[in-house]
Amino acid sequence: MNDMDILSKCLAQVRRVAKKSPMYIEKFAGIDTEKLMTKDDFESLPFTTKQDLRDAYPMKMQCVPDEEIVRIHSSSGTTGKPVIMPYSEEDLQDWAVMMERCYRFAGVTEKDRVQITPGFGLWTAGLGFQAGAERLGAMVIPTGAGNTDRQLQLMCDLNASVLIGTSSYGLVIAEEVDKRGLGEQIKLKRGIFGSERWGDKIRERIYKTLGIEFFDIYGLTEIYGPGIAIDCHEHTGMHYFNDFIYCEIIDPNTGKVLADGEEGEIVITTFRKHAAPLIRFRTRDISRIIPGTCPCGSTFPRLDRIVGRSDDMIKIKGTNIFPAQVEAILKKIDGFGSEYRIILETEALRDRMIVEAEVQLGFSGDTEALADQLIRECKSGIGIKVIPNVVPYGSLPRSEKKTQRVTDKRY
Ligand code: ZN
Repeated sequence: MNDMDILSKCLAQVRRVAKKSPMYIEKFAGIDTEKLMTKDDFESLPFTTKQDLRDAYPMKMQCVPDEEIVRIHSSSGTTGKPVIMPYSEEDLQDWAVMMERCYRFAGVTEKDRVQITPGFGLWTAGLGFQAGAERLGAMVIPTGAGNTDRQLQLMCDLNASVLIGTSSYGLVIAEEVDKRGLGEQIKLKRGIFGSERWGDKIRERIYKTLGIEFFDIYGLTEIYGPGIAIDCHEHTGMHYFNDFIYCEIIDPNTGKVLADGEEGEIVITTFRKHAAPLIRFRTRDISRIIPGTCPCGSTFPRLDRIVGRSDDMIKIKGTNIFPAQVEAILKKIDGFGSEYRIILETEALRDRMIVEAEVQLGFSGDTEALADQLIRECKSGIGIKVIPNVVPYGSLPRSEKKTQRVTDKRY
């Protein structure tokens, strides 16, 4: 689809929500949406935030009559009210179409057996992966979250060939396969992992144990769910489906739209959604649009790997840093494993940053030398003198959901 088509679809959606969605009737009050014509006009519209959706609880973002809504999903509310998103029949079909595309990008076919380990229910992931796999004609093993014993048993007995999950759960599976010596019985060929900013160390660890090719999938509950973007065999970024969503990259501090190639926050408009379209939704995810076309030949544009969240941005001693930068430093140093934690504290009225990091499996070298190297690399890489805490392999918590990397105890 060309840029003019996308712009006109976005503007048509703006006019529609301004009439039908109680949330946008309020938000766009005072804006004559009929007069919006150009890209600049579109970019003058206010952003939609997660807080707007919380304030619209339960369903003030709804744009269709009640009888057209066939399902709701909800994002996990760690603080305050959750966000409810309603879906129409067409929305669910569109989502399944995108999911099926994702599987095809990852080389999954109807001959595959897809084990889906994210949760089913209010959370979007499980059902989204299931609908796409069924559309494709693959066999679904919908284990859902948790119960690693059962996961491994079914994976072996049913010869699962594709593993779907979060990267941290992929790591849990890889470590268990290793521990139990199940390598020979596992027939996995591919992994599709999402919803987390995961580093190369975790990839390496999963790859070494399971020997599978893996694909990053992207999405969020507010925008359908997972499945709006995925990387292809070239692994040069995630193709996003610009016939369903419009992506902008903005400076998270000023809101200014950035050029392709520049890193900033992803902002998405769902111009095809029926039940609850969003205009310029701030995802909080930091990435960039990769200029040019992919060597795979697909014309779907690409988002780079997510490097962090705009709200994970750590402000310390006047410097902005992302956990991903610390992760990149740990990766460079031989001896560290994939797991780490950042703790921010105040001591004697001054901020300090503790980096707690596990050594690699089987590491028997000098941990003090590792710690010194970490101090030096952080000083030169991010300009902060960190306090290192090198801990044994396996001592940091692993999680089935998203791993909490930063703990801020400052006052
Ligand atoms: Zn590609």
